Amino acid sequence: MSFQNPVFIPGPTNIPEALRKACDMPTIDHRSPLFGQILHPARDGVRRVLQSEAAEVFIFPSTGTGGWEAAITNTLSAGDTVLAARNGMFSHRWIDMCQRHGLTVQIIETPWGHGIPADRIEEALAADTGHEIRAVLATHNETATGVRSDIAAIRAAMDAARHPAMLFVDGVSSIASIDFRFDDWGIDIAVTGSQKGFMLPPGLAILGFSARAMEATATARLPRTFFDVHDMARGYAANAYPYNPAVGLLNGLNLACEMLLSEGLDQVFARHHRIATGVRQAVAAWGLELCAATPEVQSDTVSAIRTPDGFDATRIVSHAAEAYGVAFGTGLGEVAGKVFRIGHLGSMTDVMALSGIATAEMCMVDLGLDITLGSGVAAAQDYYRVTNAQTRKAAA
Ligand SMILES: *Cc1c(COP(=O)(O)O)cnc(C)c1O
Repeated sequence: MSFQNPVFIPGPTNIPEALRKACDMPTIDHRSPLFGQILHPARDGVRRVLQSEAAEVFIFPSTGTGGWEAAITNTLSAGDTVLAARNGMFSHRWIDMCQRHGLTVQIIETPWGHGIPADRIEEALAADTGHEIRAVLATHNETATGVRSDIAAIRAAMDAARHPAMLFVDGVSSIASIDFRFDDWGIDIAVTGSQKGFMLPPGLAILGFSARAMEATATARLPRTFFDVHDMARGYAANAYPYNPAVGLLNGLNLACEMLLSEGLDQVFARHHRIATGVRQAVAAWGLELCAATPEVQSDTVSAIRTPDGFDATRIVSHAAEAYGVAFGTGLGEVAGKVFRIGHLGSMTDVMALSGIATAEMCMVDLGLDITLGSGVAAAQDYYRVTNAQTRKAAA
C-alpha cells in the first residue's frame, strides 16, 4: 500500500502539501484576537469563493451532512414543506434527513443520471398557490452519478412561478471546483464541506446564508443547539466559537481560499473542465458510457462510468486498491455495481489524472474487460497536450 498515490475518490480529495502543513498547528487560545486572525479571513475567503458580496458564512466542526442539518434546522419548522428532486444518493440522503426532522418533502422523482428538471420545479411551485413550500433543495452536483444540475435554471423556474420559496443548494462536490454563483443564482443557503473542492481533510461544514435565510431563523422552530447560527454569530463577534473550533482546519481553509483565489476562480473552473474532458475522452476511447445521460449534465468533478452488463463494477474498485494501491469510488444506491467513479476534483493535475486513467485501464484489462491498454491514456494525452499548450499560450 502506498500513501504517495493520488486518490481518485470524489472526496475526500488529495491534500496539497502546503495545506497539510497549514492544518498542523500548535495550540492557540481559541478565544482571542489571534484566533480571529484565522477565522475572519477564512470566512471572507469562503464568501469570495461562493462569489458572493454579502453571504453570512458559518463554519461548523462537522461535515457536509452536518451542513444540511444546519441549513434546515435554522430556517424551518416541523411540518413545513420543502421541494426536492431525487436523482442520486446525495439528494436521497438530504430528503431522508428532512423527513427525519418532520418536514414534508414533496419529491420529484428523477431518473438517476439526469439533472434536476427545472420545468417540473416550476410546475410544482406554480401549483402551490398557497405557498406552502418553504424551500427548494437542490443538489448541484450529484456525486453518485456524476451529474451537474443547472442551478441558474432552477432559480429562473422559481422566479417564473413567482414563488417565494428559499433556494438551498448542496454544493459539497461543486463549490471551489465548478462555477458556483451564490449571488447571481439567488441562493439562500449554500452547503459544503472541507474535504472536496477545498482540498482539506474532512471536519468542517461550510455554509453561506442569504439575508432571507437569516430572516427565516427568527421563526424557525426545529430544535438546534450545536448548529445554531445565532450562537455562532455571537461567537464570531468575539473572535470565538460557542465551543472549540477546529483551529488547524480553519487555518488550512484560510490558505485554501488564498490558493484558489490566487489561481483565479475562472482558472480553477477551467482546470476542472479540462481535466474532466480528458477523462471523458478516455471513457469514450474505452467504448464505455457515463452514467450522466446527456453531455450538458456531465460533471467536471466526478465521472461515474458504466461497465458492461453482467460485470460488477465494484470489482474494479477493489482490484485497484489491492493490486495498485489506488482508490476509485464505487457505485452507490441504485447504481451500485453498475458504475465505478473517478473523482477528479480539488488538487488535480493532468499528470495525476493520467495516472488514474492508466490504473483504471490496467484494472479493467486484469479483470477481463475488452479494453486496449493505453487507449484511454492516449486519448487523454492527446487532449491534455493540446489544451495545456493552449492554456499556457493564453496565460503568456
Ligand atoms: C460528499 C457529499 C456529501 C456528504 O458530505 P460529508 O462531508 O461526507 O458529510 C453531501 N453531498 C454531496 C453532493 C457530496 O458529494
